[in-house]
Amino acid sequence: MKITVLGSGGFGYPLAFCDCEYCAEARKLKGKNIRKRASILINDEMLVDLTPDAQTSMNMYDKDMSKVDYLLQTHTHLDHFDLNLFITLDYKYAIKKENKLNLVCSKLCLDDIQQKLLMYEKMNLFDAEYLKKIKLATNVLNHGESLDFEKYQIKAIHCLHHKEIGTQNYLIKSEGKTLLYATDTPPITEQAINELAGEKIDCIFLDESFGVNDYMFAHLNIKGFCEYVDTLKTNDLLSENVLVYATHLTHDGNPLHDELQKIFDEYGYFVAYDGMEIEI
Ligand SMILES: [Zn+2]
Ligand SMILES: [Zn+2]
Ligand SMILES: [Zn+2]
Repeated sequence: MKITVLGSGGFGYPLAFCDCEYCAEARKLKGKNIRKRASILINDEMLVDLTPDAQTSMNMYDKDMSKVDYLLQTHTHLDHFDLNLFITLDYKYAIKKENKLNLVCSKLCLDDIQQKLLMYEKMNLFDAEYLKKIKLATNVLNHGESLDFEKYQIKAIHCLHHKEIGTQNYLIKSEGKTLLYATDTPPITEQAINELAGEKIDCIFLDESFGVNDYMFAHLNIKGFCEYVDTLKTNDLLSENVLVYATHLTHDGNPLHDELQKIFDEYGYFVAYDGMEIEI
């Protein structure tokens, strides 16, 4: 499974209107310190989260959004879902569209997307004829449920990031490898542990929003991040050589890349960065 990091920041790093020490330094140093909004691309064909940066990112890293067959949406917070990009699925915009896009999200998330769409376009995601016309298939997958595509097995995993809009994380299995994409998320729930029972995770991309700060809410800091991974370990859910990556990094507690990686070296974990590509 090839994983490309399209973005590793929470709300973007540096933050648009912020001039704190980290943001100022990131603007100067650039490179791995510039973080677009968090999303990954799997095997060039499965996108997790249609962020406002997804299209820019794909162009930067020589990927092609028109070839994406699957879109897994974790939730609709503005740093994860871009209405402008979504609208261009409509035939008025995408005048030639060969690929069918499979959207996977919770019922609450789909309802929320539909609600947001109504402000701009007469797109009806519950009209089968219309969906056929724009080559979009909607697949409702609520936490605890699994869905099989040809090459992929997807399971939605419970999380309490923002219950009302149907936030969930995803376990993605392909070619004998298992990936857990868990951002955004606060500490792991009992429910999530039950849903992950029997799995052996080879790679994790996990929320690490608040770095060295001693607080966390709806997201994780470094302490919460390590506790999350420890809980997976305690429940025998990790493969022996599991790769653990921190993502969704914000300027609020996370120092620049090299310094942050030094902190994670102690645990044997990695800090994701934009454009990073790995094979698991
Ligand atoms: Zn977020
Ligand atoms: Zn800042
Ligand atoms: Zn969020």
